[in-house]
Amino acid sequence: SRTKYNQQQLKRVVGALQLPEIIFGAAALSSIYNEDSHLSGFTPVRTVRLALRYGINAFDTSAYYQQSEIVLGTALKALETDFPRSSYKLMTKCGRYGSTRADFDYSPTTIRASVQRSLKRLNTTYLDAVYLHDVEFIATQVGARVAGDPTLALNEKKAEYGLVEGEEGKVWGEGDQKILDALAELRKMQDEGIVKAVGITGYPLPTLLRLALLALHTPPYKPLDVLLSYSHLMLQNTAFAEFAPHFRDRAKISQLLTASPLNMGLLTPKPPAWHPASQELRDAAKQASSTCAQWDGGLPNVAVGFSFRKANELSVPTVVGLSNPREVHENVRVWREICEGKEEKELERLAQEQEVLKVFDNLKGWSWASPPSKL
Ligand code: NAD
Repeated sequence: SRTKYNQQQLKRVVGALQLPEIIFGAAALSSIYNEDSHLSGFTPVRTVRLALRYGINAFDTSAYYQQSEIVLGTALKALETDFPRSSYKLMTKCGRYGSTRADFDYSPTTIRASVQRSLKRLNTTYLDAVYLHDVEFIATQVGARVAGDPTLALNEKKAEYGLVEGEEGKVWGEGDQKILDALAELRKMQDEGIVKAVGITGYPLPTLLRLALLALHTPPYKPLDVLLSYSHLMLQNTAFAEFAPHFRDRAKISQLLTASPLNMGLLTPKPPAWHPASQELRDAAKQASSTCAQWDGGLPNVAVGFSFRKANELSVPTVVGLSNPREVHENVRVWREICEGKEEKELERLAQEQEVLKVFDNLKGWSWASPPSKL
């Protein structure tokens, strides 16, 4: 039987950029997550149109996500009569173009060229946000690499990351300076009106916080406008909740975003082969999937529900990868249950969550090395 969906728009907005609570993650519109055949037909247009109809009117992509910017740009072009450029926000990234260190280039010339190429691919004259993509690959590393040891929670040894009060704003080396120079180029493009908001993305939270403080304590002493964290506000790891007040109060960032409620596809029936999680974490995800097999929507719905509720508590939007209309419908349905829901349904959901959380009990807060130690 077909599920009936409530097609009313989501109306709430969060943060300085006035973003919808669900943001369209367009890495799913690339062969990182999907087959090429799926991306050249009508599916992307139908998926993007449905999202816009629901009020999911902000998109996250990157120059690194293979054909994502082109597929998204083409879909938005096809829909421009009903949805003009002013009706949605576009966020992309620059500086990362592949999987090895050699595929990163933060030089101001490349940063500018990359933004200009994104403008063309997305058929637009301005971008609502541009991030430096995965800054930890460029940042200067000092001392023990906390994120490199999967047995440690990311939050430990904060002092080694320069997070001690009064230590803010120290350039640790060449890598840090490259990040500051790339940010300065993005700020120029902001002055030119091409880019509305400037920020960073990455995995290890202590590094993100250290760099956000570095930006604030270095001329022109401006806080970052936006920061995107991923895989840190989901069933198995909620470290972002602890960092959010630091990003807001100390680093003065007015728009935070969290991405990957499904831990980059790990909490779906088909985890991607490239996923950086350890075998233990993969095994636990598989077990969680079978725990939920009989429930409406399975593990993905429990997982996005958990992340939406946490994000709602922190007033941050969630960027979720969407590749087809069914995923759009399902994610909106779960959002409604959480944010506009009925108490009985909520109690059932909380009971299901407890079952799944038990599976991850011994792996709670575990992370993986980023950048990977072999790079
Ligand atoms: P995710 O956790 O959102 O999972 C996405 C995967 O789950 C996709 O394959 C999608 O097709 C699938 N999916 C979505 N809903 C589903 C459902 N109901 N049932 C089954 N499968 C479902 O991971 P993500 O896509 O990596 O993260 C979301 C977005 O955040 C990305 O698309 C990207 O835009 C952004 N992101 C940025 C960074 C970064 O800047 N470093 C890192 C990760 C993600």
